[in-house]
Amino acid sequence: MKEKILGKEFDKLIESLSKFPSIGEKTASRLALFLMKNPPNLTLEIAKSMVEARKKVKICNNCNSFVFEKKCFCNDPVRDSKILCVVENIFDMISIEESGEYKGQYYVLQGLLSVSKGIKPEDLKIDRLLKRVKKVKFNEIIFATDPTNDGEFTARFLNERVQKYCNKTSRIAIGMPLGSEVDYIDKNTLAKSLIDRRKL
Ligand SMILES: [Zn+2]
Repeated sequence: MKEKILGKEFDKLIESLSKFPSIGEKTASRLALFLMKNPPNLTLEIAKSMVEARKKVKICNNCNSFVFEKKCFCNDPVRDSKILCVVENIFDMISIEESGEYKGQYYVLQGLLSVSKGIKPEDLKIDRLLKRVKKVKFNEIIFATDPTNDGEFTARFLNERVQKYCNKTSRIAIGMPLGSEVDYIDKNTLAKSLIDRRKL
């Protein structure tokens, strides 16, 4: 019915926009409408920046992070190569960097395990992490996932699998409000959470 009124191109646009996380059909329709009522150049500009950014980004085989223009923390010789911090996403990694309390390596999960959302170990590149952990034999692995149900579950799951391949594992938690998210916490609180990390 809607297709008959709006035309298949508009319908396709709504369908495509609905593929973004947290964008339902209603929001997608509003975004589509926004593009239609603005000059065509705006749509071109948005589409171009999406394509350009996507083309430039690579995934690092070592830390599973997005790499722009070959800059990756893995290649920085002044960082401690024997300490690893496991984070959910690139924004958490940036927050930890900004806290100034950490100068080791990272592993970016690109998500969290979740029973409610049906995200299983095979959906995250956990094999890549385990391979690295077995090879490097880290002095310490810090789990810096959010103190939410999924964050705690992921940290516990990974800890069970990596513990025997490193000297020590730890968890940031103290000082972080329960249910909060790493990339929303202020720098000082995050820095304190890292300093006060507890041994697992
Ligand atoms: Zn890397």
